[in-house]
Amino acid sequence: MVDFTRGARELELEARTRDFIRDQIIPYERDPRLGGHGPSEEIRTEMQAKARAVGLIAPQLPERFGGFGLNHRETATVFRAAGYSVLGPVAMNIMAPDEGNMHLLAKVATPEQQERWLRPLAEGHTRSAFLMTEPDNGAGSDPSMMQTTARLDGNHWVINGRKWLITGAEGATCAIIMARTATGATMFLTDMTTPGIVIERVLDTIDQSMPGGHAVVKLEDVRVPADQILGELEQGFRYAQVRLAPARLTHCMRWWGSAQRAHDIAVDYASRRHAFGKPLIEHEGIGFMLADNMVDLQQCLQTIDYTAWVLDQGARGTAESSLAKLACSEALYRVADRCVQILGGLGITGDTPVQQIFREIRAFRIYDGPSEVHRWSIAKRIADDRAKRA
Ligand SMILES: Cc1cc2nc3c(=O)[nH]c(=O)nc-3n(C[C@H](O)[C@H](O)[C@H](O)COP(=O)(O)OP(=O)(O)OC[C@H]3O[C@@H](n4cnc5c(N)ncnc54)[C@H](O)[C@@H]3O)c2cc1C
Repeated sequence: MVDFTRGARELELEARTRDFIRDQIIPYERDPRLGGHGPSEEIRTEMQAKARAVGLIAPQLPERFGGFGLNHRETATVFRAAGYSVLGPVAMNIMAPDEGNMHLLAKVATPEQQERWLRPLAEGHTRSAFLMTEPDNGAGSDPSMMQTTARLDGNHWVINGRKWLITGAEGATCAIIMARTATGATMFLTDMTTPGIVIERVLDTIDQSMPGGHAVVKLEDVRVPADQILGELEQGFRYAQVRLAPARLTHCMRWWGSAQRAHDIAVDYASRRHAFGKPLIEHEGIGFMLADNMVDLQQCLQTIDYTAWVLDQGARGTAESSLAKLACSEALYRVADRCVQILGGLGITGDTPVQQIFREIRAFRIYDGPSEVHRWSIAKRIADDRAKRA
């Protein structure tokens, strides 16, 4: 039976995170140093120093990397509280892509690789990037279309290709690069200063919470020593799945917190703002939108907790996390959209965080698998199950 009782450690961390976000991070939301391509290194470092002081840097990580070794369920509780500000995950070093990369490195990297790349990442001293998606009809929804190649030359792999939409590449210290090898794909770990890695440009995108924004990266004769393969040769797609299931879910957790914040702001506005002789909240059109928000938030919370529980049982959770990602990205987007509507003209301004939350969650319907790809794979499973039963 699924037990959703919250333990004392989880509740204490949730309360600590809530206080930290409210008292120390929300004030940064109006900081003029926030740029169009995510918070600057200066703000990131400043916020992380504050998180460190209250013991909230990457709390989910194993204890040997400075965390509390939280399970997925406990992680969900803390990440939801962190997401109450879009800056919260950056402050606590639990933002994409670093959080997913740290998870993968903790699971797959050798002890030497962990000391070199994971430890400084876990401590918040560096940032990382994950290079998979490609422009020019390469890997996207269908990763098997990967065009970037790696060929062995003596004791080095030589990587050539182009990647794009690479979050945090600008300013990252290290990267995980996916490239095609003889019979599949392989992941390589490398420093971003390796000759041949060129950031062509940082894209202007709808979202702006992720440090470094999203970049186009050229890989030209990038030489990577053979001992910098992450895991085993030709196992890249398998490791992508190891990273993907929990990473999809942590996005759901963080954006849940942000959607809850938008909802709280909408409730407050609808209670104070009057139209046609009464507060907006007493108009059914608004009240029902808030009720639908409650339903979506509650359903997402249960979906997140259930999926986290599945992962905690040691299951790979690929199918469950696909369902959860689809359900949460669509439902949380609906919540954010309703909140913009409830705020009227205020909703499309930067005077409240609702506009940014709306933009951030819009992008979530595309990364880690667009909604249509999740629907398509769920539909395939339905057909396969039926065929097996026939
Ligand atoms: C904010 C953001 C951050 C990102 N960060 C990273 C990163 O750090 N590293 C990285 O490698 N990538 C990153 N990505 C890329 C992301 O993983 C891809 O955008 C995603 O996999 C979709 O690929 P694509 O953009 O090439 O879309 P395409 O593959 O061109 O698909 C376009 C559209 O076609 C539709 N479609 C595709 N397949 C199907 C199907 N089977 N059935 C029905 N419809 C379908 C979907 O509606 C989809 O949105 C990021 C993307 C965003 C938006």
